Amino acid sequence: MRCLIVSDIHANIVAFDAVLRHADGKFDKIWCLGDIVGYGPSPNECIERIRQFPHSCVLGNHDSAALDRLDLNDFNTDAQDSARWTQTQLTAANRDYLASLPEKLVEEGITLVHGSPRQPVWEYIMFPSVAKIQFAYLSTDVCFVGHTHVPVVFSYYQAENGPEVCEASVLPVEETFEIGKERQIINPGSVGQPRDGDARAAYAIIDTEANTLQHFRVEYAISQVQETMRRYNLPPRLIARLVYGW
Ligand code: ZN
Repeated sequence: MRCLIVSDIHANIVAFDAVLRHADGKFDKIWCLGDIVGYGPSPNECIERIRQFPHSCVLGNHDSAALDRLDLNDFNTDAQDSARWTQTQLTAANRDYLASLPEKLVEEGITLVHGSPRQPVWEYIMFPSVAKIQFAYLSTDVCFVGHTHVPVVFSYYQAENGPEVCEASVLPVEETFEIGKERQIINPGSVGQPRDGDARAAYAIIDTEANTLQHFRVEYAISQVQETMRRYNLPPRLIARLVYGW
């Protein structure tokens, strides 16, 4: 099966539609790693769009915040403002949809979580030291995570006659990349609010039979999203950061 892997769409329908156009015809199903909503101006549109496709999705911390399930004091003020705004926007049907999302899924022998295997909704895996711990919480060799909005591969293996090693490497763009030879935690980056200094939307396509992955970056009309955000008086910093990919 070929799956389109998306994460952290963050209510950015312009970016999500650009990804769907770019990947058109190349996938059978969507795997979504959470945070469909939060930050951006189009929460309902993004939920309704993903529901038009066969898909599996896990819950992200911003999805949880939109359901008012967590203490917003854990968020910075911009994220709090956008979470409160999102709560006022969601339709009852879309709220029910978010409420139905599991925290962890195993699909085709691959684990999907938003944050980490250890703490699926909240924990950030930024460094190999944190990634290394996670493999003890994984029942599969390969896991996809989102949450940091930074594309990366963490590989875990036993060095010859040595200790277990966990290394971070860059997820190559457009190259076909073999997965599953070592245990791996892979982050495909963010569709709607990239934070690796590249403003283009990020996503990946997996072929679960060939065990290959391809990572892509796609330009989208950032100014169009910013205009909509301004119309809803969303926090200026959240509007500005899209241009910088941060
Ligand atoms: Zn996020």
